[in-house]
Amino acid sequence: MSDFSGLSSYFPDLPDAPDWLDLKVALLHCGVNVDEAVYNNFEGCCRLSRNPYSCNAMILGGEVSCSLARVTGGEKTPFRLTVDDGKPVITCNGRPIVRIAFHANTSFYDQQTSGGIPFGSLAVIQGWDMLAFSCLWRCEITQSGDACGFCHTGIFSVPDHSLSEMAEVVRYAVNNNPGVGILQLTAGSTFRPEAEIDRYVRIMETLGSELEMSLPPTIIYLTPPSDLKQLDRLFDAGVSQIACDMDIWDERLFNRICPGKARVNTRQRYLDALHYIADRYGPNRACCVFVGGIEPADSLLEGATRLARCGIVPLPSPLMPFGITPKTLPEIQPFNFGYYRKVRRETARLYRQYNLVVPGTRGSDVCLSRDIWLRRETECLIN
Ligand code: SF4
Repeated sequence: MSDFSGLSSYFPDLPDAPDWLDLKVALLHCGVNVDEAVYNNFEGCCRLSRNPYSCNAMILGGEVSCSLARVTGGEKTPFRLTVDDGKPVITCNGRPIVRIAFHANTSFYDQQTSGGIPFGSLAVIQGWDMLAFSCLWRCEITQSGDACGFCHTGIFSVPDHSLSEMAEVVRYAVNNNPGVGILQLTAGSTFRPEAEIDRYVRIMETLGSELEMSLPPTIIYLTPPSDLKQLDRLFDAGVSQIACDMDIWDERLFNRICPGKARVNTRQRYLDALHYIADRYGPNRACCVFVGGIEPADSLLEGATRLARCGIVPLPSPLMPFGITPKTLPEIQPFNFGYYRKVRRETARLYRQYNLVVPGTRGSDVCLSRDIWLRRETECLIN
């Protein structure tokens, strides 16, 4: 069951032939109210939990993973996830649009480390097979009071844990359901990037020595160091790709919306690190997230194009405006499908033109980049 026309009562710019990625960006932007009946029917049978930190996700059209960005409190959304005839169904303004599915159940979240930390407090399963350590240490930019204006994760960090416990989590995830196709290591930004690199190198060394298996491809998200040669240590330790996220290409908006990054780490240092990696290690080793929905599409695409020409992979990721600050709100773009269709089309063209490869397998819950890459032949033709 899918009837996208139900979206038109809320979204006047609905394209003539809406598709699953249109629905994904709308769901990520607006969030979803989830009926209690959904949990009553499906929790425990599939990867779905009332725990908001367990990274719930939906599968749209059998092929696109999308975060179940649940709306709480007073925020408004036209979307509701409900149960209809025993099946989970998304409605928009009360009209059923699509039947969705959930990811297969996993025993991952039932596990604890030897120190008693629930696996889900350290890492989550994204999409079908991405193991993501999301907040390895607290973001110092948030702590300094200069958080990025769209951030909804900077206040989090994972419980204190040993590197051996990280290895236990990775070992279990790789050996059991779900088999892991990619490992992602993310933490908050830091004012001491060299110390951050030390920590990542120790993590990689521990995983390498304690696991009796080869690691899946590993991408780390990093604060760029001033001494660029430090980046070599990460590749020497076995990292596959490094992402240094500029988030916003437009310099004025970057300074205004990411004041901590702009003041301490500086836009230039992000560029220097990305180019250093591309020059030294070749294409597809450096990546850069741009947050869709903040700056004009042409500006985002100018940045994506400049980087893509040098073999750096731009990763457009839709804004999920739940943590947005009042100062940032007037600066963001009004949500519209045309914006994202332009970003999708032009990014797909860049991926094809420069033979870029987005890390991952079947896509993640919150990012668009791998979805675009997988469909790059058709995405570059959309209107
Ligand atoms: S760097 Fe910015 S977006 Fe990332 S966690 Fe810190 S404040 Fe949030």
